[in-house]
This record gives sequence, C-alpha cells and structure tokens, in this order.
Amino acid sequence: MSAECIFCKIVAHEIPADIVHASDHVVAFRDLEPKAPVHILIIPKEHISSMADLKEKNAHMLAEVFTAASHLAKAEGIEDTGWRVVSNVGADAGQGVFHLHFHLLGGRPMGWPPG
Ligand code: 5GP
Ligand code: ZN
Repeated sequence: MSAECIFCKIVAHEIPADIVHASDHVVAFRDLEPKAPVHILIIPKEHISSMADLKEKNAHMLAEVFTAASHLAKAEGIEDTGWRVVSNVGADAGQGVFHLHFHLLGGRPMGWPPG
C-alpha cells in the first residue's frame, strides 16, 4: 500500500467507491467521472504505479483483470454492442492516477484512434 494513493485507499475501504467486482488480486469500481455509459476501473490490490512497472510475477493478477473485464462487460449488458479496455501510461497517454488501472468502457460508439 502507498500511503498517499487514492486507489490504495479504495482497496483498503478507507474511502468509498462503487465496487462492482473483487477477486484474489483485483478490485473493480465505477469511475467517479464516467467517460461512457459503462466506465469501470479494474485495478490490482497491490500498489503498482503503471504497466511500466509490471513483473512476471504479476501474470496471475493480469489474468484476473482481463477475465473480470469480460465478466463485467456481460454483467453490464455491453457484450453485444462492444467494449474497450485501456490503460494509460505516462504523460502523453494522460495517466492521472499512478496506481495501475484498466478502464473498461462501453455503452456508446467509440472513435479510433484515440485523440
Ligand atoms: P487515468 O487518467 O489515470 O488513466 O484515469 C484515472 C481515472 O480515475 C479517471 O477516469 C478518474 O475519473 C478516476 N478517478 C480519479 N479519482 C477517483 C476516485 O477517487 N474514485 C473513482 N471512482 N474514480 C476516480
Ligand atoms: Zn496505490
């Protein structure tokens, strides 16, 4: 846990979040400022700053992230219309919270490539 990290505090239930899924290594909760009708953040319970800091030992956690995304897309009713998983790394990608997170987005058409 990182003392000043907002997402570590969500994992520790120190600040509230609309948690929609949890498993051994990951937690998923709704984004505070949703950018799509479905916007869920899937994060490791362990503090990892970004994808740039992943290690091979994180493989099981990553499997949980992507199976959670698939499960949540079905649960949120966007299985047939389509969805996207994105992780921003660093300044050019617009990373604002430095605890690894994967955005699950869906419920509206999304442009490609991102702006
Ligand atoms: P990033 O820009 O780092 O890829 O995404 C960070 C995301 O976290 C943003 O979409 C932002 O709305 C969301 N966010 C920031 N602080 C909080 C918070 O305290 N609670 C929740 N649920 N989402 C947050
Ligand atoms: Zn953290």
